Amino acid sequence: MPELPEVENILQCLRKKLLKKNIVKIENLRKDFIHHEDKLQGIRGCTVTSLKRRGKWLLMELNNHNSLVLHLGMSGRFILLKADSPNPKYALFRIIFDNGNALVYCDMRRFGRFEIIPTSQVDKYKSIKSLGVEPLEKDLDITLLSRILSKSKQQIKDFLLDQKKIAGIGNIYANEILFASKIDPFKPAHTLDEEEIIRLYESMQKVLKEAIAEGGSTINSYTIPSGEQGSFQFKHQVYGRKGKSCYHCSTSIWKEKQHGRSTYFCPQCQKP
Ligand SMILES: [Zn+2]
Repeated sequence: MPELPEVENILQCLRKKLLKKNIVKIENLRKDFIHHEDKLQGIRGCTVTSLKRRGKWLLMELNNHNSLVLHLGMSGRFILLKADSPNPKYALFRIIFDNGNALVYCDMRRFGRFEIIPTSQVDKYKSIKSLGVEPLEKDLDITLLSRILSKSKQQIKDFLLDQKKIAGIGNIYANEILFASKIDPFKPAHTLDEEEIIRLYESMQKVLKEAIAEGGSTINSYTIPSGEQGSFQFKHQVYGRKGKSCYHCSTSIWKEKQHGRSTYFCPQCQKP
């Protein structure tokens, strides 16, 4: 599933290619995915005035005071093509711009979300309103992190996945951040000591920023809309490395199910 670093890369690519461009045509290829056809056709002729990210959500603002609000779900992908290119597999809709680009949304598993809502209502939109703090924004510092942690009895891995606490982190980066912090994924959030909180904060910044710089992690379907793949998967320390040697201490990496999600960790570096 695309997480903060992948969505950030998608955002930066779309900003470069689509900002200030006009929508000339919309093709709803699977009407059972987007039901509000009239709303969709209503954005024809509009200009993209801004592109933003909130957690794993993409927000595309238009000059008609409406915004496209998008979540890629499990397998959603944006692909930028020339307008006359054939549609890729699993294409659900296509937006054609006046610069000859077509933005195609493909989603094999169709867990993605797509809404058109007034821009003034975006912050009140249920799934956006409930999001926690952005991990790379200034408002998250060690004091605030410490305060949110102290109120949570969740295991720290579940805490990192909880979008209502911190927005944008999913399973890959939760595993990688905890390894970098040398914290046991099963430790209750409120029991982290001061040093662990500092390590957690610093690792979160480092891992997410590095992953963004590497174009994200290409596992399964994710690519940047212009077609490039991410390369952070080659830097994963624990995710997907069950049974392989820890790069720090050579102990075998373990994999355990934690509330339905795979948790990868080094039992030596991340001792309880
Ligand atoms: Zn280790």
